[in-house]
Amino acid sequence: MFILLVDILILGLSLYLLIRIFIEMRGTVLKKLKYPKVQCARCGSCCRIPFVPVTHKDLERLVKATGKPAGRIVRFCTFSEMEFDPESGLWISFKSGRRAMILRRKNGRCIFQTPKRACAEYEARPQTCRTFPYDVSFEDEKSGVVDEIALNTVLACKAEKCPKIDLEMLVANVRKENKEDKEYHKLVWAWNESGEKGGTADFLKHIGF
Ligand code: SF4
Ligand code: SF4
Repeated sequence: MFILLVDILILGLSLYLLIRIFIEMRGTVLKKLKYPKVQCARCGSCCRIPFVPVTHKDLERLVKATGKPAGRIVRFCTFSEMEFDPESGLWISFKSGRRAMILRRKNGRCIFQTPKRACAEYEARPQTCRTFPYDVSFEDEKSGVVDEIALNTVLACKAEKCPKIDLEMLVANVRKENKEDKEYHKLVWAWNESGEKGGTADFLKHIGF
């Protein structure tokens, strides 16, 4: 019995050490990476020019923060409205064609952008808004080791150079974004595969609203 307990203790300790080494290695790799250091200049373009695709998780946070029904926060844009990878898992099949769930817009900008170019729902903003203007890629899905950190090129971002950025937070946000995208794409896939497709209200119900 005593020997069994010692074995379990050694096994637990080894696992703990392995996990610590893995975390340390990730940190070391991050510190060695070369990447652009910029801070937002609040020009407001990224809340005005691109359509902003959202996931069920982004929507859940926004519904909770605003108290608005999901249908007043998002709309479903057509394929011709938004240039986006046709193979991406965000395209939802409706009888009227493929559509993507995006944040609603008013007067040519996101409904949450204030006249002073701030975000009215900053704490609950979608993951994609948290990571812009950075584009982070990983070596592979399993290791989660960061391969490259570059700047997004979807629009002419006016971000200014700065001495330091919170790299750990950026990477944590990208990891969360990728995880939630994956979950959302699974829900979209299940909808697209089902023979009983309905309208946008049915899709919102399908993803939990
Ligand atoms: S486009 Fe760049 S500088 Fe302008 S608000 Fe967005 S992140 Fe900031
Ligand atoms: S949710 Fe906020 S940060 Fe994101 S596009 Fe809208 S205003 Fe900009």
